[in-house]
Amino acid sequence: MPLLLGISSYDIQGWAPIVLMLILVVIFAMTLKFMPRTKPQKIKPDSDSSVRWEDVAGVTEAKDELKEVVDFLRHPKRFKKLGARVPKGILLHGPPGTGKTLLAKAVAHEANAKFFAQSASSFVEMFAGLGAARIRRLFKIARDQAPAIIFIDELDAVGATRGNQFSGEKDQTLNQLLVEMDGFEGADNLVVIAASNLLEKLDPALLRPGRFDRQILVTPPDLNGRTEILEVHSKGKPCHEVDFELIARQTAGLTGADLANICNEAAIFAGRQERDVILMEDFEDALERVVAGMQSRRVINDHEKSVVAYHEAGHALCSELLPSVEKVHKISIIPRGKALGYTLNLPEEDRYLKSKEELIDYMVVLLGGRVAEHVVFGAITTGASDDLRKVYDISRSMVADYGMGTQLNNRRLPAEDYSMSDNTRRIIDDEQQELTDLAYRRALDMVMANRPLLDELARTLLDNEVLERGDIERVCGMKEPMAKPRIAALERHTTPGD
Ligand code: ADP
Ligand code: MG
Ligand code: ZN
Repeated sequence: MPLLLGISSYDIQGWAPIVLMLILVVIFAMTLKFMPRTKPQKIKPDSDSSVRWEDVAGVTEAKDELKEVVDFLRHPKRFKKLGARVPKGILLHGPPGTGKTLLAKAVAHEANAKFFAQSASSFVEMFAGLGAARIRRLFKIARDQAPAIIFIDELDAVGATRGNQFSGEKDQTLNQLLVEMDGFEGADNLVVIAASNLLEKLDPALLRPGRFDRQILVTPPDLNGRTEILEVHSKGKPCHEVDFELIARQTAGLTGADLANICNEAAIFAGRQERDVILMEDFEDALERVVAGMQSRRVINDHEKSVVAYHEAGHALCSELLPSVEKVHKISIIPRGKALGYTLNLPEEDRYLKSKEELIDYMVVLLGGRVAEHVVFGAITTGASDDLRKVYDISRSMVADYGMGTQLNNRRLPAEDYSMSDNTRRIIDDEQQELTDLAYRRALDMVMANRPLLDELARTLLDNEVLERGDIERVCGMKEPMAKPRIAALERHTTPGD
C-alpha cells in the first residue's frame, strides 16, 4: 500500500504541470473566442449619396465655401493656371444637428469626386496601432483614386488634445492623421473634410495652416434659414395653409435637426387623426412636443396641481413684467416629459447679444417659479431643479465667460482646470451666489408686489390647464401690474453692507 501510494503521488506530481498548462490553453482559447473581433473594415468610396445642394437649407456661408471646393475639384485646371492650390483640409464645426454631415454628403454628390466617409470613432481601436494603420490605408486608397474627398465625421473622437495619459492609442491615431495631412499636396486633388462639435477641444496641431486651415462655422439657422429648412422638409408632404414663417418665428435657437423633427412629428399627428393633409395645428402640436416633450399620463393630486400652477404663474408673471424678457407664448400644467408644467417663452426675433441686465432678468424669470411657491405655500419643492440648473449655468457664464461679475469685471477666466487657483474658484462661487441672490430678491419683490395678479393667473391656469398668449394678456390686462422700480433694486444691491 505505501508503495502504491508512492507511485501514484509521483505520477500526479509529474502530470500536474502539463494538465495545468492544458487547462490554461483551453481557457485562453475560450477567452479569444469571446473577445470582440476587429475585422479590418473595407475601404471603398460611397457614391450613392442622394443629398443635393437644395436639400441643405439655411447655412448659406458654409454652402458658399464648400461650393468653392467643389469647383476646385471639378475644374482643377482653371485654378492651377493661376497657381492656386486646392485647400487641403476643411473643418466644419458647430453645435450638433446643424447639418454638418448633411453638407459633406451634399459635397460628395456635387463634386464628381470619390467620397470616402469614415467616422473618427471607427479609428479608435482596442489594440494599439490599428487606428493609425487604418488612417494610413484610407489615405493611400483615396490618393490612388483621386480626385477624392475624405470625410472624417465626429473628429473629436481622435482629435482631442493629446497628452492625456489614458489616450495613448488615440494619440497615435492623431499623429498618423497629422502625418498624412502633411504628406499630400494640393496637386493630389485630395481634400479632407472633417466635422466636429467642439473646436476648442481639438488639438491645436490640427488647426494650423496646411492642415485643417479652413474652418467653417455651421450655426443654428436664422429666421430665413429656419423657414427654408421647414420648407425643405415639408416638400412632398401634403401641407394645407401652413405658415412656415410663423413656425420659424417661434423656433429661434432650434437646429436643422430639431426642425426636421418638427416636420416629421406634424405628419405623425395628422396621420393619427386620419387626415389627408397636415394643418397648422399639427405643426403647433409638434413644436410643443419637440420643445417640451411628450404628454405624459401622470396623475397628480390637487395640492400638487395648485403648486405647479403657482410655480408656472410665477414664471409667467415675471416674464410679463420684465420688458427685456421674451413674452410668454403658452403656459400649461399638463405634464409633459419630465416636467409637471411648463411656460413657453418665445423670442420675437433672433438675438445675438444679451446685456447683463437682460441675463439677470432671465434669472429672475427662472427663479420666479420657486419664489411663487415659497410666497404662497411657505414651502419649496423639488419642482424647480431644472430652473436652478439653468440659473447656475447663466450665473457661471456671466462671471467666468462674460466678465460680468462685480469683482472680476471684464476678465475672462481660464478654462476650468488645475491651473485655476483656489482663490479664483472661491471668487467665482461668491460672485455667482451674489448674482443669484440679486435675481432671487428681485423675483421676490416682484411676486410679493403683484400677488393679486399671481393669484388670478394661477386660478385661471387651474381652471383651464392651458393658457395661450391671448388669455395671458387678458388676465394681465384685468389687474393693473405694479411696475417695479428695477434700478432701485440694483442700486440697493450694490451698496456695500447690504
Ligand atoms: P450634424 O452632423 O451637424 O450633427 P446632421 O447633418 O447629421 O447634423 O443633421 C441631422 C439632420 O437634420 C439631417 O439629416 C437633416 O434632416 C436635418 N438638417 C440639419 N441641418 C439642416 C439644414 N441646414 N437643412 C436641411 N436639413 C437639415
Ligand atoms: Mg454629424
Ligand atoms: Zn420652473
